[in-house]
Amino acid sequence: MYLCNVKIVIMSRVIRMINGKCHNCKEKHAKIFKDSFFSFGFPKMNKKCPNCSIRFEKEPGFFVGAMYVSYGLVVLEGIIAYLIGSFFSNNPIVLLISILAAIFLLSVPNYRYSRIIWIHMFGSV
Ligand SMILES: [Zn+2]
Repeated sequence: MYLCNVKIVIMSRVIRMINGKCHNCKEKHAKIFKDSFFSFGFPKMNKKCPNCSIRFEKEPGFFVGAMYVSYGLVVLEGIIAYLIGSFFSNNPIVLLISILAAIFLLSVPNYRYSRIIWIHMFGSV
């Protein structure tokens, strides 16, 4: 029973991270970023949660640690791009270009999700 509740809590947190919701409250309109995922341009963050008014940036430089999350995401995407590219070609130049293209195309979602994951990991500390 306890393990089932832990799974539910973890899954609800993962779903909130994917949707970019606040780590503190569970409201539908409590978004961390102002714009939607599919909007053009660089994503802009809310300074506070629109629902519970908790500050997302706890202190100056809080999001420096999100670079570690971003690095992990880039490595994961590079490995996936390599595996997908290796199905089509064994040429190392083509594989390198596919990895670099994946990193470039996913740079904005990386920025967004690295901060969201960082807030969910250390926002309550
Ligand atoms: Zn909130």
